[in-house]
Amino acid sequence: MTVEAVIFDWGGTLTPWHDIDLVEQWSAYAVIYAPTDLELAQRLAEAELILWRRQQASRGADGTGSLEHIFESVGIDTTSTLHGEALAAYLEGWDPHTLADAQARPTLEALHDRGIRVGVLSNTMWPRWHHEAVFSRDGLGHLIDGAVYSSEIPYAKPHAAAFRAALDAVAATPSMTVFVGDRPWDDVHGAQEVGMRAVLMPHSNLGDQAVDIEVEPDAVITGLLELVDVIDRWRLGA
Ligand SMILES: [Mg+2]
Repeated sequence: MTVEAVIFDWGGTLTPWHDIDLVEQWSAYAVIYAPTDLELAQRLAEAELILWRRQQASRGADGTGSLEHIFESVGIDTTSTLHGEALAAYLEGWDPHTLADAQARPTLEALHDRGIRVGVLSNTMWPRWHHEAVFSRDGLGHLIDGAVYSSEIPYAKPHAAAFRAALDAVAATPSMTVFVGDRPWDDVHGAQEVGMRAVLMPHSNLGDQAVDIEVEPDAVITGLLELVDVIDRWRLGA
């Protein structure tokens, strides 16, 4: 197999999975935007969950939407100074949970050493600029050749259109591309449906986000660096 590109999921794959309390995360926003509104964090978290459920129920035909959709649905004035400050605090509150896996950088470097392009396809409501800041902070920015964030497109994984957008972003053909993710449904099944090989890194505690589906990943890894061996075997035809 010729491998032109490897496309990675982000949450739970390039960055390790953390169990998150959404209300707590949104509290960092609410305490700045409306300190006396004790229910705002709850409403923001509920608005976010509605979007995630819609994406899951539609199998990605409805995208994740973006943070703007959440703010709009709870009546936030996104032109206000307070909103800007609150948003910065909200995103900063995620910092401890977005640190790259220690094996991410050597893995991406090993792929580049082999002439393999690196892509990212993430189901996310966050803006591109925030993801890029996170990657740069962790020394990964220069190792990513193309990225697709569902906050920017009308569909999401596991929809084929999301995977095709990611393939386009790294100018790769499905049969020569490997996808790596932590979710059997959104990542492995979705990638295989468009003709990519799919590697599962099953570390994440998906809980009620798990979809009951039988999938057969082309490989399973317990750490990112194992991917390099898997790809070397495939390139040798083993
Ligand atoms: Mg993931």
